Amino acid sequence: MTSPHPSSAASRYRALLSPLDLGRLTLKNRLVMGSMHVGLEDHPGDLARLSAFLGERARGGVGLIVTGGHSPNRSGRLTAGGAQADERTMTRHQVITREVHDADGRIILQLLHAGRYAAQPLAASPSGGRSPLSPFRSRRLTRRGTRRTVEQFALAARRAVDAGYDGVELMGSEGYLLNQFLAPTTNRRRDRFGRGAEGRRALPLAIAAAVRDAIGEDALLSYRISLLDLVPGGQTWDETVVLAKGLAERGVDVLSTGIGWHEARVPTIVTSVPRGAFVPLTAQLRSEVDVPVIASNRLHDPDLAEQVLARGEADLVSMARQLLADPHLPRKLAEGRSGQVVACISCNQACLDKVFVGKRASCLVNPRAAHETELVLTPVAPRRVRKVAVVGGGPAGLEAALAAAERGHVVTLFEATEELGGQLRLAARIPGKEDYALALRSWRMRLAAAGVGIRLGMRPTPADLAGFHDVIVATGVAPRPVDLPGFAPSAEPPAAGPQVVTYQDLLEERAVAGERVAIIGAGGIGVDVAEYLTSPIPSPTLDARAWREHWGVTDPSAVRGGVTAAPQRTEANDGRRAREVHLLQRKETKIGAGLGRTTGWVHRAELRRAGVIQHRGVTYERIDEQGLHLVEDGEARVLEVDTVVLCAGQVSVADLAAELGAGASRTSPRVHVVGGADLAAELDAERAIRQAVEVASAL
Ligand code: NAP
Ligand code: SF4
Repeated sequence: MTSPHPSSAASRYRALLSPLDLGRLTLKNRLVMGSMHVGLEDHPGDLARLSAFLGERARGGVGLIVTGGHSPNRSGRLTAGGAQADERTMTRHQVITREVHDADGRIILQLLHAGRYAAQPLAASPSGGRSPLSPFRSRRLTRRGTRRTVEQFALAARRAVDAGYDGVELMGSEGYLLNQFLAPTTNRRRDRFGRGAEGRRALPLAIAAAVRDAIGEDALLSYRISLLDLVPGGQTWDETVVLAKGLAERGVDVLSTGIGWHEARVPTIVTSVPRGAFVPLTAQLRSEVDVPVIASNRLHDPDLAEQVLARGEADLVSMARQLLADPHLPRKLAEGRSGQVVACISCNQACLDKVFVGKRASCLVNPRAAHETELVLTPVAPRRVRKVAVVGGGPAGLEAALAAAERGHVVTLFEATEELGGQLRLAARIPGKEDYALALRSWRMRLAAAGVGIRLGMRPTPADLAGFHDVIVATGVAPRPVDLPGFAPSAEPPAAGPQVVTYQDLLEERAVAGERVAIIGAGGIGVDVAEYLTSPIPSPTLDARAWREHWGVTDPSAVRGGVTAAPQRTEANDGRRAREVHLLQRKETKIGAGLGRTTGWVHRAELRRAGVIQHRGVTYERIDEQGLHLVEDGEARVLEVDTVVLCAGQVSVADLAAELGAGASRTSPRVHVVGGADLAAELDAERAIRQAVEVASAL
């Protein structure tokens, strides 16, 4: 579908969609796909998949693509088999550059030397030693080693350009090798590549100059510069500005801004980080240097990206995960379909969390991401169009209905409540997960555009579904009850003792928690509920200044690295509700151990800071007028609480599937069960959505 008013659409995103000359390259718009490792870069066997992934983004209309990081040499590889810009690999990459150029796209290769972050035994860094994230101790680069590193960067850059790349980006942020040279905490050298700020800058500047020399004037040279290291002993603002000017003098065409080292204890991209939280620093850099700058981090909202450009805070905007979620975002903006952009919710669940354990990335809201050649939604031939009923409007049902309708089937979606969203709608009520509502809005708009009929407030019976060819049952889950004397969830507080409520009732505000609360179950939802009950009001995610204070982010002109110890909880300084919250589980393992690899630590830090009292290895005994009785460390005790919140996992709601199965005949609709209705154990939206798309792709 194209916009009836393309000119008004174009004007809404006038700055974002306007062309830009960058170096000697002309970009068709100011949207950059920032570098992402998607797990397809390391194996030659994945080249066709990688090419399809990048080609899809080029066809979607992004102005410039930056590839995942490739090391200039063996010691800089992220892992032992990690991507390297060697001769053979770069020759093979001609497939990629051709595919992107055929789609009228522009692409540059990122050169990344991992330094002490390399998870392999050849790791080398300015002063040796091991990072808090690495299994290996890095060796100190010798003087000869530094000279070789400069040459290897130049050689790798030349190979990239020979393979058809439009240029290269030097990864100088996130705590990788070049960033390690710049920070006194990791560079304690006494030679010309250390000893004061000028010495620490020498290697990155030498590499920039050598690379410019190697790739010539026509190719684009980008440098990813760390604006805020967020580690003690990181750079000062003055040092960053002097570096930026030095890079420009050595022929860098554009500075792509990066925030925070991987080992920083401040979140920088998860969903609880306020949108555009770091743009003010990009704007400050832009005012101090004479080279275009790219803003990044939590800038997935096109309206915000437009404002950043229109206000002159940056020259370009980088989105990375957002283009996993929707490769066609630029095209949709140009066609006046911004409401149909698939919104990234910054959950990291299917992308970064996968890549960090060596798996291929995908996207929770777009399972086709990085699987373009395998999960294909082909339009259905007119004579094969089927009448499809989808029952249940949670993530699995929404995506099943959408995918089936986009293929050309006639789809009706039934939802028992008056609102779509299921468990995702509840998640959007957690402070720090406000963006989840964006995904729901996007689904609603796309369902409407795809012509899905929506019937809210209706629980169809098998008789209601008789006229459909296919029924996709996505009836989801219900909270798992626990077998405990006195356990009786109720909407009203009892005359004596604690009120027992489900997490659903609490989050939907059908029940109100008291001042002393026990949460039974410390999985993802128990942790979320603990944050819901203790989070400052309003949520710091909605106020960048409050969020910076909450995490101890400060001015890098005043404090090296721009971080102090985060302030501890006090009633006076953060306005938290004064609640005593107990979070309980029967297992002995660390609370929150099963949370996402890149997000779990943020939640655990929030729990600690909010003073949530954690209990592991407990046995629940009963609930009575005194409170919740349990055994902990071999001793019986009672938690005298006003409210007990049930977060003990879920059970499938699959009655409809059973009824349809029981009454099935030759003429009955085909029944497909997806999401939590199929399997409630370790329910997760990523699996539910992927399963929904797989079912819809086979209809
Ligand atoms: P969950 O992760 O399976 O946790 C359920 C909790 O209930 C566990 O602490 C479990 O621990 C306890 N439990 C299970 N059966 C029980 C029983 N009969 N009596 C008492 N306690 C019992 O489930 P969830 O918290 O409902 O989350 C569902 C899914 O949503 C998760 O798998 C996760 O993927 C996703 N999610 C993730 C996040 C996040 O990453 N931040 C947030 C929300 C949801 P014990 O058996 O040790 O007591
Ligand atoms: Fe965004 Fe989550 Fe998809 Fe990653 S998995 S791209 S964070 S929505």
